[in-house]
Amino acid sequence: MKIVDTFGLPDGLLAAIRNDQYNVGEKLEGTEGIYSPSSLNTPPQVRQLTREHYDELEEEAVTRVWSMFGTAIHNEIERATTGSDDEIAEERLFAKLEVDGKFWTISGMLDNINKRAGKLDDWKVTSVWTVMRMDRLPEWSTQLNVYRWLAHMNGIELDTLTINAILRDWSWRESTKSDKYPQTMVFKVDIRAMPHEEIEEFMRERIRIHQQDPVPECTPEDQWYGGSKWVLRKIGNKRAVKTEDTMDGLLTYVEGKKIVALGTMLQAPFGTHEAELDELTGLSKGDYYVIERPGERIRCARYCSVARFCPQAKREGTIFTEKAYGRNNQKPSLVPHETNSSSATRISTKSAPSAGKREAPF
Ligand code: SF4
Repeated sequence: MKIVDTFGLPDGLLAAIRNDQYNVGEKLEGTEGIYSPSSLNTPPQVRQLTREHYDELEEEAVTRVWSMFGTAIHNEIERATTGSDDEIAEERLFAKLEVDGKFWTISGMLDNINKRAGKLDDWKVTSVWTVMRMDRLPEWSTQLNVYRWLAHMNGIELDTLTINAILRDWSWRESTKSDKYPQTMVFKVDIRAMPHEEIEEFMRERIRIHQQDPVPECTPEDQWYGGSKWVLRKIGNKRAVKTEDTMDGLLTYVEGKKIVALGTMLQAPFGTHEAELDELTGLSKGDYYVIERPGERIRCARYCSVARFCPQAKREGTIFTEKAYGRNNQKPSLVPHETNSSSATRISTKSAPSAGKREAPF
C-alpha cells in the first residue's frame, strides 16, 4: 500500500506518517495463519480484497494523522511506565487456537497490564461522537476479551478491562450544555470480562467466516449502513423540519400542515446540503415537501480502502466521496428512484401515500 499526499503536508509530518507502521506479529510454528482482534472484526471481503490488491492500494497521508496521534499517545504512556515487574506496556502476545482440527495463531498488542491488580488498560484516540453513540462497543468488547484470553494463555489473569478514550474533539463549552456530553476529555469505558470459552467461540466463528470460499459479501452492519430516513423540509429553512425512520412517523407530525409533494426520492452524495435541493423542487418559500434520504453505506462510501476494487459496491451503486475526508463539494441532484437516471431532475411522487394533504405534485 502506498501512502500518497495530494494536500502538500509538511515534509516532517509526512515522514512521520510514513514511518508509523504497525507491526502485526508473526505466525506460530505449526499454525495456518495469523488473526488479530482487528482482523477478526474486519469484514472478510475487505480482508480478501486487501490481500489481492495490496500493491495497488493508496491511502491519503492526511487520513492517518489521528492514527499517528494514537501511536504518539501509546509511546508516551509506554515511556512513562514504572518498569516494575507488575507492569507491562505495549506487549505483543501470541497463542494458538484450534478451529475444526487446524491451529491458528492469535496475536494482539496489549497496551498496559497491571498483573498484580489484574487490570488491562487500552488507549484510544477517538471522537466525542464515538463515545456518545457507543456504536463501537461490541468491537471494543471482543478486542479486549481477546487480549484477556491471550494474557490467560500466557499465564496472566486479567479481570478488569477498561477502554480509555481520549477525545480529540472534546469541547468544554459543549460539556457545560449537557450532562449527556462527556464531562472531560478522557472517557473511561468498562468492558465486561467474558468467560474464556465465550471469546474462543467468537474467534472460531469469525475464523470460519474468514475461511469460507468464496468469502461472504459484506453485511449492512459491515458497511455501516444506517437505513434510510424520511425528511420533512420547508422551503427557505436551512435545516430539515423533521426527520423520521418511516414515512408513517413523519405523517403523524405533518398532519394539518399543507404539504405540496410527498414521496419524493433523493439521491445525493455525502456532503450534500439538503437546503440546496429546495431550488430543484420549483416550490415557493414556506411550502413543505417530503423526501426520502437513502441510507448511506458509510464504510463503503468514505472509509473502505478497497472500495474501488469491490464488486459489491459497484453493484450497489455506491457513490464514493472524492476526497478522503470532509465534504466533497458535489452539487446535489434529485433522481427519480425508479429510473435511477443520473440526468433526471424530475421528482417522483410515485410512492406518495394517501394520508396528508397533497396538491400540485411536481
Ligand atoms: S466497499 Fe463496502 S461492500 Fe465493498 S468491501 Fe468495502 S465495505 Fe465491503
